[in-house]
Amino acid sequence: MWIAKKREHYGGTYMGTEAKNKIFCENEVNVEEIFATNVYTPNTMKERLPKDVYKEITQVIEQGGELSKITANIVANDMKEWAIEKGATHYTHWFQPLTGITAEKHDSFITHPDKNGKMLMDFSGKELIKGEPDASSFPSGGLRATFEARGYTAWDITSPAFIKETATGPTLCIPTAFCSYTGEALDKKTPLLRSMEAISKQALRIVRLFGNTEATKVTASVGAEQEYFLIDQKKALQREDIIFSGRTLFGAPAPKGQEMDDHYFGVIRERIGAFMHELNVELWKLGVTAKTQHNEAAPAQHELAPIYESANIAVDHNQLVMETMKRIAGKHGLRCLLHEKPFQGVNGSGKHNNWSITTDNGVNLLEPGETPNENVQFLLVLACIMKAVDTHADLLRQSASNVGNDHRLGACEAPPAIISMFLGEQLEDVVEQLVETGRASKLKEGGVLQTGVSTLPDFKKDATDRNRTSPFAFTGNKFEFRMVGSEDSIGSPNTILNAIVAEAFCEAADVLEKTEDFDIAVHDLIKEYMTKHQRIIFNGDGYSQEWVEEAERRGLPNIPSMVEAVETLTTEKAIKLFERFGIFTKAELESRAEILYETYAKTINIEALTMIDMANKQIIPAVIRYTKELADTILAVTSAGSDASVTKELLKQITILLTEMKEACCYLAEEEAKASAMPRGKEQAFYYREEIVTAMEKLRKPADELEKIVGKEYWPFPTYADLIFEV
Ligand code: ADP
Ligand code: MG
Repeated sequence: MWIAKKREHYGGTYMGTEAKNKIFCENEVNVEEIFATNVYTPNTMKERLPKDVYKEITQVIEQGGELSKITANIVANDMKEWAIEKGATHYTHWFQPLTGITAEKHDSFITHPDKNGKMLMDFSGKELIKGEPDASSFPSGGLRATFEARGYTAWDITSPAFIKETATGPTLCIPTAFCSYTGEALDKKTPLLRSMEAISKQALRIVRLFGNTEATKVTASVGAEQEYFLIDQKKALQREDIIFSGRTLFGAPAPKGQEMDDHYFGVIRERIGAFMHELNVELWKLGVTAKTQHNEAAPAQHELAPIYESANIAVDHNQLVMETMKRIAGKHGLRCLLHEKPFQGVNGSGKHNNWSITTDNGVNLLEPGETPNENVQFLLVLACIMKAVDTHADLLRQSASNVGNDHRLGACEAPPAIISMFLGEQLEDVVEQLVETGRASKLKEGGVLQTGVSTLPDFKKDATDRNRTSPFAFTGNKFEFRMVGSEDSIGSPNTILNAIVAEAFCEAADVLEKTEDFDIAVHDLIKEYMTKHQRIIFNGDGYSQEWVEEAERRGLPNIPSMVEAVETLTTEKAIKLFERFGIFTKAELESRAEILYETYAKTINIEALTMIDMANKQIIPAVIRYTKELADTILAVTSAGSDASVTKELLKQITILLTEMKEACCYLAEEEAKASAMPRGKEQAFYYREEIVTAMEKLRKPADELEKIVGKEYWPFPTYADLIFEV
């Protein structure tokens, strides 16, 4: 709602000078003022902490290591004071267990009152640095027996503490890693941090080879574009499937889908706009750089993109984005669906994970450079990434799999399930020339070459084309990994990216550090890698059947589903990679595989039970009521001497579908009972995938057919048209 001044302005009334150039809006915010006000940022620390304490903490943030006990106590005390000034009464270690979401257990700052009954709020260095939640109810995949329930949370000093403002009141959240008593990672953050160290170390070896002696660290940066759906909360609550599984398990398509392309980038409706505005404000306060917002391809689908930042913080922030979206949606009478495929027949949601690597002296290793030296470095990095992605395509595929994403990947809308790399015309041509002739002295677009002695061309940023069907696309100075599911943590994809590229860098550095003639050696290595791994490059239509066949000819893996992807974690190749760089132990990998199988089985089980419930208690009774209405009509019409053949035909048609539905429902119930009685693990997960998912489809089909012909007022819950067109 606009305030008076604004109305005057539009009404033609002359406004005061200071107001003249300003549009007034009731919900106006000053972003510069509110940004990161709820974050204990390095700046906050600089202002508040004694100089030497600040120095020590920055050093640990930048270079690693541990805080001294004294410093930890000073920081904890100041953090508490800061939080209390902002109204906080509680703190929590905030961590990311293998459930894929975040976990928190709140403790207040209160202590024993003194003898006069006065309360003193306290928070020690020990409490800041380490927590000991009873962790027996988090997935551990056998790493931690239930009797050894202790889990540890440890402060991740590289991600700043923040205050979350929810109905529980402002709470100080301390980002932490979560490990077992014996130090095994039980979360998504620990391996990510390990992988960031690995890539930093190996990338430094590469830049040193090119004479960069200044850089001390290389950081993986990530910008995650988040897609989501918003529907009306009241309608959502009328559907068990949305409540229990976050997606619709039944639903005939609405007469209109996304074929008109009128939602993508369309005008944002007022109700959605109000949500986006509040979401942005909340995110800005949390230091999340929410930057872009727009309507997406499917009706009721939207996107938010922040500005990229260090991978670790980006992972935390993406969790905050998802959490905040859900919370703010509730305040607007909306429900935010983050599921990868909430509605059949329209696009699902994903997350584009934009990834790059940059030295602390400002060189983006994925940016074609200005000088010949930088260009050769760029080509070597590119060759290493080709090698990494080709060698570990299976792992990358796995990192983007979750139960919901099975509905997207390979289903002709999101990227295919086959990993390939898109480089753009110019770069692809360079690779081809190098592979064929060992030289690449011409640029396809006729640009001037300036590469000194080498046989490699100079580059200009190639902004000419974008291939939207590629799962892993080079977009100028970053790679965009487009396979990730909308609901998934981006922890795993980035851990894998860092790990596989670290390995390729390491192997290249092993060769190049030993050579006498670096120029020749680097040239040969680039050619060797590009030749060996050229098969991973694909610039065509990733959604086509031809590509599936071509990929098979090339020997690229095509892993169709989440359960089939699990094994990639425990191959000899994977174990060697992860153990070499200290990212996962074999035991950790095996435990993760086990958790994935269990998660799959449990998720499908909930979906199956929900379908059975909805079918038996809602759809079938509703259809029966309608058949009674039809039967009564037939009797009345016939006794009035008229022709009831249309009604009779309809009744017949409905009865056939109803029988089919009841049978399918009984079959699903039987199969579900079998599946849930199986011992947990791989075999059970595959049974769910093969038998239960198929039985669910069989039940959905007649139900959706019925929805199309049963009277609207009889249908027991809101339809697709109600849900995605009337938000
Ligand atoms: P789109 O892919 O929709 O064209 P953009 O190119 O604007 O969008 O970028 C999308 C995301 O990529 C944003 O989150 C942006 O911050 C991020 N991004 C841009 N440059 C980099 C980079 N060098 N490294 C990592 N992420 C980046
Ligand atoms: Mg994108």
